[in-house]
Amino acid sequence: MDLDTVREVVLARDRADLAQVGAGSAVLAGGTFLFSEPHDQLHRLVDITTLGWTPLLERSDGLEIAATCTLAEFAGARPGRELGAPTLRPEWPGTALFAQSCRALLASHKIWRTATVGGNVCLSLPAGAVLGALVALDATAVIWPRGGGERRIPLRDFVTGPGENILATGAVVRSFLVPTASLLARTSFRKIALAPLGRSGAVVMGRREVSGRCAITVTASTVRPVVLDFSAVPTAFDLEAALVELEPDIWFDDPHGAPDWRKHVTGLLAGEVAAELRRSS
Ligand SMILES: Cc1cc2nc3c(=O)[nH]c(=O)nc-3n(C[C@H](O)[C@H](O)[C@H](O)COP(=O)(O)OP(=O)(O)OC[C@H]3O[C@@H](n4cnc5c(N)ncnc54)[C@H](O)[C@@H]3O)c2cc1C
Repeated sequence: MDLDTVREVVLARDRADLAQVGAGSAVLAGGTFLFSEPHDQLHRLVDITTLGWTPLLERSDGLEIAATCTLAEFAGARPGRELGAPTLRPEWPGTALFAQSCRALLASHKIWRTATVGGNVCLSLPAGAVLGALVALDATAVIWPRGGGERRIPLRDFVTGPGENILATGAVVRSFLVPTASLLARTSFRKIALAPLGRSGAVVMGRREVSGRCAITVTASTVRPVVLDFSAVPTAFDLEAALVELEPDIWFDDPHGAPDWRKHVTGLLAGEVAAELRRSS
């Protein structure tokens, strides 16, 4: 839809242009959310897709995913497959979560080609499955504060509630760093929704590292992504104990699922994820 209060669209060419992000202006990435509803408080958009960031970059300590990486590039980045980006290593089974999380979104292929990984994270919706996948892979967010410099925070600490996060006014998310240990990890993914193609009611993703360390990440059913850490794949008893300890108001309530249903199905899906990770040794 037209945003008729917007008077200026800045095509960012370098970091200095990002100084124009602030009160009354917003970062424009894929625009699939920004152009889907009115934002009367906005008079300027700063387009970051013109910055030319490489979508996926292999590093000595893992993989860097640019905030502007589209969902299509993210989902298509499978081991051995080239997409104008480095071929992902065949020994990186952890990247299986990339495509699985994109498929969990209630979004068409048209959205996939435009929407970005950074936009999904910054929107911080409970149904943000790409956000959930990066949390499940223990990613770090690289943030460019308005005044300069760089801040890195574990992505698991980024979201504070439905549609809320720690990003300060004027700050821009540059990228996400996925550590090698997560890329080498075995993963498992489960999703449930009230309707076959409906918005996710619960999504559970598991990661078992070569060291044996295991993390079960819950999203969609909770108001923010929740990570349960274990030194090994948890037993059904340990998993249930960890879920019971979560604060009662963590369970999300909207037309896509009642909190008690979400809590129940999360327990079932988490049990399946743990069982699959146990079998994949
Ligand atoms: C039909 C449809 C279905 C959808 N289904 C889902 C779904 O199931 N789950 C879900 O989570 N979302 C869903 N969305 C919402 C949205 O499309 C996705 O979350 C998408 O990933 C957002 O990415 P974008 O690049 O289009 O973000 P944009 O619309 O460009 O931006 C979204 C927000 O993030 C901010 N932003 C973007 N990038 C940055 C950055 N690098 N740094 C700082 N701020 C930034 C923007 O200012 C804006 O506030 C859906 C949208 C549509 C239209």
